[in-house]
This record gives sequence, structure tokens and C-alpha cells, in this order.
Amino acid sequence: MDVKELWQKMLDELETMIPALGFDTLLDTTDPVSIMNNKLILCSNSEVSRNLVRKRFYTQIKDAMQMILPMLDDVEFITPDQKDLYADEEKEIPIPQHILEDSVFIKKYTFDNFVVGKSNEFVAAAAKAVSEAPGKKFNPLFIYGGVGLGKTHLLHAIGNRLKETRPGYKTVYVSCEKFTNELIEAIRDTQNPGDAKKAFREKYRNCNVLMIDDIQFISKTDATQEELFHTFNDLYTAERQIIISSDRPPREIQHLEDRLRTRFAWGMIADIKPPDLETRIAILQRKAAEQNANISDDILKVIAGSVQSNIRDMEGLLTRVISYASLINHSVIDMEVVNEALKDYTDDQKEMISADTIIDAVTEYFNVDRQSLVGKKKNKEIVEPRQICIYLITEFMTMPLVKIGEIFGGRDHTTILHARNKIEEQCKTDGRMAVYVKDLKDMILKR
Ligand code: ADP
Ligand code: MG
Repeated sequence: MDVKELWQKMLDELETMIPALGFDTLLDTTDPVSIMNNKLILCSNSEVSRNLVRKRFYTQIKDAMQMILPMLDDVEFITPDQKDLYADEEKEIPIPQHILEDSVFIKKYTFDNFVVGKSNEFVAAAAKAVSEAPGKKFNPLFIYGGVGLGKTHLLHAIGNRLKETRPGYKTVYVSCEKFTNELIEAIRDTQNPGDAKKAFREKYRNCNVLMIDDIQFISKTDATQEELFHTFNDLYTAERQIIISSDRPPREIQHLEDRLRTRFAWGMIADIKPPDLETRIAILQRKAAEQNANISDDILKVIAGSVQSNIRDMEGLLTRVISYASLINHSVIDMEVVNEALKDYTDDQKEMISADTIIDAVTEYFNVDRQSLVGKKKNKEIVEPRQICIYLITEFMTMPLVKIGEIFGGRDHTTILHARNKIEEQCKTDGRMAVYVKDLKDMILKR
């Protein structure tokens, strides 16, 4: 594999990890350069984009890299004038064969690095039990909880543990989105239709442990649900372990066929709740130690208090404090440093765009009222702005389609997808539409 291929594979992962708009920025501004001393060198086309990408997506980029090549340690961002220093010496990256065949687990997502408190002790115990006796105790294990609370961390922890204790095991980790995409590709592969589907089944039905992350994104299509159903049955009857994560309990996942819903509840359902302040501080202590940063507990308390529940956000804030201190050469991390970093953080939060901002822009631009926009009316004057609005929400936010459907009067998520795709296509062929979309994007970004 060369560095370009690595980057391409990373982009496939990153597409499901960061919002579409951020992803576009990343695509437009960042290029892979080389691998040096176990570091992936990325070049940003300007100082501004370098800071932006590093600040927003550093952890995600590193995670994506380590999912593909776990032996790499870090990512470094350079600007074009530094490129000569980092020119490609060794083009091919040697890859151990097993990595190509197996799921790779992020090294730092282990049980040891998972801080246990009241909010997650049950789920952590269940995950450990499953990694000790896969297929025996809790099958399936269904983990649910809000964004950034550690679901993916736990799945990788199970994977890492199994790699150690049962090296011969085939443990497959896949996001629901990737599972669906691979299935669609297999179905569409008309050149060798039988083979593609067979390979897909081989992969997902001949494993000892199957983990599907973020099942709430399951598509309504019969083919996906059918395939998942049979995969589940095959594995279950063979006493193979199935682990599923979701941001909500099975009964709240729209479009999930009842036969799947009931099966998900056959084993153990465990939820992760937002951690209390004490646990958040303990997590920060762990993360600070991981980054070799020396920060007093008082300061960690302030950071823990500034972010309500999402641990990923809290980690981001910590990273910001640490990098801010090194930027201004402050050896001691004090309140002054934290205040500056916090200011920066809140500014960034403000920059984030909400569905309301987008709806407001669209209603203003087309001079329609909000109620009709999100309502049921089907006349042409309102349908087009509505579809554009839906398209823009999918562009600017990572909101699940189901959720967008809820905003728009309980529309089905396939309707949302259809609207999105229609506008996307139309932008390519219809100049008028391209102008609408461009105007609106400008408008929204200025707010
Ligand atoms: P989810 O999949 O639920 O959205 P992740 O597993 O991606 O969340 O977790 C987000 C970040 O928070 C990760 O960096 C993870 O290591 C960290 N994290 C969450 N919970 C804990 C915990 N209990 N201890 C240590 N780190 C945690
Ligand atoms: Mg996750």
C-alpha cells in the first residue's frame, strides 16, 4: 500500500466520522505526503486550513489511520513549503498480511483505558463478560447510549481483548453504514453476481464475533434487513457472539423489522448513561496522562464542568488546553490558559450550524413560512424549497436521516434521502439550482 491508498482508505472511514461540510474541507485542503518515523505526514494547502483541520479533526484522522494501519503512531500536518523536508523516501508501506484480512482495532481503546463509574459500570461488565466467554453468556449484547459516551470504545476494547486471548478468532467490526454499503455493492456487482454476494456472506457469517456499530442507521430497504436477519440467525444458532451498538434502544429504532427488534432483545441490553462529574474528572485524568500532560485536578474540574455529557467533546477541549499551553510556551497549565482555550472552544461551538439556522435561511430566501416548509403541503412552490432545505441540512450537519424526517413532519427517512439525492443531482445539471444552493450556503455560513 502506498500513502495515497492509505489516505483513500482513511477517507472512506472518515466520511462516516465527520460532518459532510467538514469532510469537504478536508478533501479540498489536505493531501498525503509520506510516512516518516511511523508518522503519517499530511500537507494542508495553507496555514489556516492546517490549523482548522488539526483543531477539528485530529483525533478522528488519527483513529481512522490506526483502524487501517495500527502500527502508525501519529499524524503530522505540514504546509506546502515544508514539503521538501518530508518527501517520500520509501513509497511502499509494508503491511502484515493479517491486517488485510482482519478488522483492526484502535490500540488505545482498551478496557484498561475505559474509566468505569456508576453511569457505565454495568455495560462495561457486560462487555468484559462477553470478551471472556463469547457466544455463551449475553448473546446478542446490545449496547445503547448517546453520542460520545464510549460505545465504539467498548466495541474496540472487546476486539483488542479477543485478539490477545483468542488469536485464532475471527472478530469482525463494522459500522452499520459500511455493512449496508458493502451489501449494496455486492448486490450491484453484475459482473459476477453470485461471487460478490458469496464473499459478503463469507465475511459476515463465518466469523466468531460480529460487531455492528451504530445500528440506528439501518436502512429501511428489505434487502438490508433481510440480510441482517439471516446473518443474525446463522451466527446465533452457531453460538457465535453478536454485539450491536445504537444511540437508542431497539424499540425506538424506526424501520427496524419486528423480527430483528425482538431478536436484539434476546440477550442482554445495556445502556451507557452520561457520566457524573466525578467520572468525567477521572476520564480527564486518564486522558491527560495518556498525553503526558501535567494538569492539576482543579483545572481538570473546570474542563469537566464545561462540557455536559459528550466525552469526545470534553477530550477535544482538553487537547485544546494542552496545545494552547504549548503554543504560548506556558509550562504550567493555569486558569489563564484554560480560559483562552475555552473561549476558543465556545466560539467554535457557536460556529456550528443548527437545523434552525438552515431553516431560517431557506424560509427567508424563498419567502415561504416555516410551517409550510416543514409541513405536508405538496404544491411545487413549497416542495422545492423543502427539498433544498433537507439537502442543506445533510450537507452541514451529521444529523441522522431519521431525525431530519422528524423535523419535517415525521417524513420517512427514505423520503429525506430521496430529496437529498434529487437536489444533489440537480445541482450538477441545472444552473438555477446550483445558484440557489450556493447562495444559501453563503448565507448560512455568514450567520
Ligand atoms: P460513541 O461511540 O458512544 O459515540 P466513543 O466510543 O467514540 O463514543 O467515545 C468518544 C471518546 O470518549 C473516545 O475517545 C473514548 O475513548 C472516550 N470515552 C468515552 N467514555 C470513556 C470512558 N468511560 N473512559 C475513557 N474514555 C472514554
Ligand atoms: Mg461510535
